[in-house]
Amino acid sequence: MLIPLPVPGNNQHHLASLAAEVHRTYFGKYPPLPVRWGQQITRKRRRSIRLGSYNHHTAEIRIHPLLNSAHIPAYFVQSVIHHEYLHHVLGGNHNRRFQSAERKFCYHREAQEWIRLNLFLLLGRRRSEFQRPKSPPPRFEMPQMALFPLMAS
Ligand SMILES: [Zn+2]
Repeated sequence: MLIPLPVPGNNQHHLASLAAEVHRTYFGKYPPLPVRWGQQITRKRRRSIRLGSYNHHTAEIRIHPLLNSAHIPAYFVQSVIHHEYLHHVLGGNHNRRFQSAERKFCYHREAQEWIRLNLFLLLGRRRSEFQRPKSPPPRFEMPQMALFPLMAS
């Protein structure tokens, strides 16, 4: 008899619980939105990654399945959920109002710092590749990462 083993690095986060906490803490006056992992696409190296998305037709939030890993802190997953909830509430623009609302997430700073240091993990690259002068910096989309120094360097 074969007993399936858990896939390493997978199913580390209970998304429904993380989403429920974000909803309760920041968006309690709105009905909760469905939050699901997106589909895994196997690609070893990426130029960019969209960490989350909000579908305004279905009012659903998708979180990139690569975030379902022991390497990714729960507060980072929650920061992506929070960002996508804001799209539901404030619309598609990352304008000033959006950005100031985004800063209300209590681990906003930590989340920014974490992605700045660890984006290479998500892109399947070694950190050293980020420092080659000739290759332009990789992009990720939460989106709008003008916020993140990595994009500017
Ligand atoms: Zn966004």
